[in-house]
Amino acid sequence: MKTLKIDHIGIAVKDVEERLKLYRDLLGLKVDHVEELPERGLRVHFISIGESRFELLEEISEDSEIHSFLEKRGEGFHHIALRVENIEAFIEKAKQLGIKPLSDEPKPGAHGSKVVFLHPKTTGGLLIELVEGGEE
Ligand code: ZN
Repeated sequence: MKTLKIDHIGIAVKDVEERLKLYRDLLGLKVDHVEELPERGLRVHFISIGESRFELLEEISEDSEIHSFLEKRGEGFHHIALRVENIEAFIEKAKQLGIKPLSDEPKPGAHGSKVVFLHPKTTGGLLIELVEGGEE
């Protein structure tokens, strides 16, 4: 088990083209990957910034993972993702420590990665995503 780096910062958006005015047009960052994750109801845009990335999350169906978030809180900071080795061991250890994974098994993430989220009520208010694998 090893935690390697901040992989990305997830940001919920309603209109990705509108938000690209900030990230692409003003900040001059490059969108280097766009992917649909139908089982999670999401389309994601990855934008590199140095060694890390922003992940713009947009919903493509009403049962998306960000639907209630957008309804309740609107657009904005959604989660921070940490790249790890041996994600299954992290899930087990989290449970032992009373930190609640949102699923018992990793789910498919972008780039063919495996991901699991940790419940913010058990992390001090942060939605934390653990990521393993997939292209960097
Ligand atoms: Zn993410």
